[in-house]
Amino acid sequence: MRSRRHVVLTTGTASGKTLGYLLPVLAATYGGPEAALGSAAAVAEPTLREQLVRRRRPHTALYLAPTKALAHDQLRVCTAFGLRSWNVATLDGDTEHVDRDWARDYASYILTNPDMLHLSVLPQHARWASFLQSLRYVVIDESHRYRGVFGAQVSAVVRRLRRVAALYGADPTFVLASATSTNAGWAASALTGVAQDAVTVIDEDTSAHGAVEMLLWEPDGLPDDTAAELLARMVDQGRQTIAFVSSRKAAERVAVRAQALLTTAARIDSYRGGYLAEDRRRLERALQCGALAGVAATNALELGVDIAGMDTVLISGFPGTRAALWQQAGRAGRQGTDAQVVLISRKQPLDAYLFDHPETLFATPVEATVLHPDNPYVLGPHLAAAAQESPLTARDAEFFGPGMPQLVRRLVTQGVLRERSSGCFWTRPERAVDAIDLRSAAGRSTEIVDVETGRVLGHVDPAATDLTVHPGAVYLHQGESYLVEDLDAEAGEALVKAARPGYYTQPRVLTGVSVVAERRARALGRGRLQLGTVHVTSQVTGFLRRDELSGDVWDETPLDLPEHTLATDAVWWTLDPQLVPDLSPARLAGGAHGAEHAAIGLLPMFAPCDRWDIAGLSAAQHPDTGVLTVFVHDGQAGGGGFAERGFEVAEEWLSATVERLRSCRCEVGCPACVVSPTCGSANQVLDKEAAIHLLGLLFPQRLVGAAGR
Ligand SMILES: [Zn+2]
Ligand SMILES: [Zn+2]
Repeated sequence: MRSRRHVVLTTGTASGKTLGYLLPVLAATYGGPEAALGSAAAVAEPTLREQLVRRRRPHTALYLAPTKALAHDQLRVCTAFGLRSWNVATLDGDTEHVDRDWARDYASYILTNPDMLHLSVLPQHARWASFLQSLRYVVIDESHRYRGVFGAQVSAVVRRLRRVAALYGADPTFVLASATSTNAGWAASALTGVAQDAVTVIDEDTSAHGAVEMLLWEPDGLPDDTAAELLARMVDQGRQTIAFVSSRKAAERVAVRAQALLTTAARIDSYRGGYLAEDRRRLERALQCGALAGVAATNALELGVDIAGMDTVLISGFPGTRAALWQQAGRAGRQGTDAQVVLISRKQPLDAYLFDHPETLFATPVEATVLHPDNPYVLGPHLAAAAQESPLTARDAEFFGPGMPQLVRRLVTQGVLRERSSGCFWTRPERAVDAIDLRSAAGRSTEIVDVETGRVLGHVDPAATDLTVHPGAVYLHQGESYLVEDLDAEAGEALVKAARPGYYTQPRVLTGVSVVAERRARALGRGRLQLGTVHVTSQVTGFLRRDELSGDVWDETPLDLPEHTLATDAVWWTLDPQLVPDLSPARLAGGAHGAEHAAIGLLPMFAPCDRWDIAGLSAAQHPDTGVLTVFVHDGQAGGGGFAERGFEVAEEWLSATVERLRSCRCEVGCPACVVSPTCGSANQVLDKEAAIHLLGLLFPQRLVGAAGR
């Protein structure tokens, strides 16, 4: 790293990643008198020239974290060095003006997040000139979190940073700290825009820890109940334990329940996002000194970096990716002692598949990071922002990639930019950056406003707005339950009220997919696999109210909401129904639908993504293809790279899918195979057996017999 190559550190939790990059950063950015020790000049009276040189800021460095809490953790680590003249400062939405000015003018290591860089630093780069011209290192922590559309957004910000730094003559070295992944070098290059061969990947973990035993636990009831019982049992045995659960509410419930089950006088608490910093510190200190014997926590990221060395880590439900699993598991085990990790399964295709094939949990490599930095819907607005920062010229393709010229031409045609001989200019009075929200997909997100307090609870992506916050919807936000009173699409506001009505809602959606352009295609067994651009039309037509406990349908309410069209990427496979003459049209439709659900359930194993990142549609005879078709498409405009990844790994992905269906112990389908909690048609017309039969045709002939049974 000191030799100015870009570096990505991909090792496990608590493996010394932080020190790995912090020491070179310290060496470059530390401006105190100790920095000159060992040089004879320091002893002698400094000359005037030396005094002037000393006054200049040393090199500067920037630390980017996906959350505020992580940046504050980094500040604590830096403060612990005890170097008073190392000017380290955090910069986030809560930083007071005077502190912001101090950071800008004096700090040599600034700890911030991509949003602040995007909204505050880059648009005012002239005021940051002295910081930027000395910029030596950019640390991107937790870089695996920048994936899908969010990853594309952050990638555009990083490219804008490189371009603006270059205006001041700086060419910073990037250091990425990432959970383990198969394609860390590629992902680092995609995120920063530097060439992949300029990136060194360091993935050797030489930090010492004792053996960790991994147990897989299939509960009879709810995974969180089992987590509470195990938490109490472990703590009773004197083992310090963390239980990871998926929501704040669950963290509290599990902690309370475990405390009640304890037979000793030990103490168990919950640890979740939303706590004040001092409360977090208090809990962390109590854990470190052993005063706290157990904790139920929301996820590894919210925990302070120092929390490791647990005797047992319980994980309630597979956390979505193997990288995240190992990050949570990494909290277990201290030097010299053995530890235990217990993974408790949920009833979902992904968990079920992994429990059937535990070896895949331990397989290296883990997942690849999926990132699509060329998404035109993301890059276009950032090019406008870049033009406002400094007029765009053809040379900037060096930063923004080969797709840039075409996008710039489009922005000029649309009147967003104006072309002059010296480059393309932003001509409007408003700030281009204000039209971009890094945390949401292209388009304006909807604000969720609590009518009782006026507080904005959060945002939903445009693509998910009608689905999640339609009038009458029960909306869950960080474990709290709200009822949507009104959705004002014009104002971009959903008005909600805290409520726990005893039911949950499920939207009914009418979806259509039409093929716009096919980019790639290949044979897949007796079928065909395609990748391309599609238009997804969707309209929420109503919703079901379902009993909170039993899931039974109470009633259906129609809704009058507009139809939306989304241009995005899809992977789809087609099969000629003539290949399966014994299946009726209804069974063909049910089979395609079941295969679609199971395939969507398993794609995250190959392309880490969240619930809204992908969706699907299937038809026994699709108008565009004329045959049986199953689409799996990206959930956001322009695509997130998930469908593309699915196209590339289709053999592994679909064989895992058919395998899951064949080994599921249910009779006619269950949530661990074909039943999906997010199905727009309420899981009607599903045929597990037909799905197995259809998927079997996508593999070489010799396997068909086995798959078809
Ligand atoms: Zn099943
Ligand atoms: Zn469905």
